[in-house]
Amino acid sequence: MAPRCSTCGLVFQREPGQWLGSWFLNICLAQTVVVLILVLGVGFSWPDPPIVAISLAAAVAAVAVPFAFFPWSRTLWLAIDLAMRPLGFDDGVAPGFELQDDLDRLRDEPGGHGTAA
Ligand SMILES: [Zn+2]
Repeated sequence: MAPRCSTCGLVFQREPGQWLGSWFLNICLAQTVVVLILVLGVGFSWPDPPIVAISLAAAVAAVAVPFAFFPWSRTLWLAIDLAMRPLGFDDGVAPGFELQDDLDRLRDEPGGHGTAA
């Protein structure tokens, strides 16, 4: 994974342990898929469910889903992190890419960085 965005310069790993949240999202999705395979597999084939086939499908999903969802889990976690902790001046983003609303908000803060009174 690239350490920063090639367009705006945002450093993706904003703090140590940043990707623990993406790991959590990935595990949640994998467990949800495994449980759905087990419940739906048994539910639709009741009263004689093919336990070996259902278990094999669940095991394959438990391994494959985290690998398949890995890039999206990081992207999704970065979006959640940015929503919870908006960009700061130390995130390395070029000034031209900062949102105008954020600049206005920073300008209005006491001791802000802008020139407005
Ligand atoms: Zn960018």
